[in-house]
Amino acid sequence: MAILKVARLGHPVLREKSLPVPIDEIRSPEIQRLIDDLVETMREYNGAGLAAPQVHVLKQICVIEAQGNPRYPEAPAIPLTVLINPVVTPVTDELEDGWEGCLSVPDMRGVVPRQTAVRLEAYDRDGARIDVVAKEFFARVIQHETDHLQGKVYLDRMRDFSTLTHLAEWNKYWLGIQEQDD
Ligand SMILES: [Zn+2]
Repeated sequence: MAILKVARLGHPVLREKSLPVPIDEIRSPEIQRLIDDLVETMREYNGAGLAAPQVHVLKQICVIEAQGNPRYPEAPAIPLTVLINPVVTPVTDELEDGWEGCLSVPDMRGVVPRQTAVRLEAYDRDGARIDVVAKEFFARVIQHETDHLQGKVYLDRMRDFSTLTHLAEWNKYWLGIQEQDD
């Protein structure tokens, strides 16, 4: 396994659309190694998720995990989840504001409105189908990560940039004042 270099905002790869993984390639050593490297890289940098384009690979793969994460100490736990070719469909019009950060936008936070529940269809790393309705924090992270596969970052989803803040100022001025969701 390897810790991969994470593309930062401004790198064109973050603005490109990723391609689906052929189903019969999911179990290939190359894809399995990429998944392992995504997981290791996400954990190394304390991300709650990481998408393949963030490591310069334009494939529709992302990994999500949140448990005991120092970057998101109040986040509900999400077990390690690997999503391949995910399709996300809102199941509600309800939006909720929550704080987000991104390993490709280091040391920044901003408030992003997201659907509170989404249907998630995808494949897992064994090629088995996933079809679930995800809610709240899990739904937020799914929307954030799958946006990366479409060349979007969370900044694109903010209503405005009045809450965009450096992490040190976030800790100083915002933490605990506004509802923290991410
Ligand atoms: Zn991100």
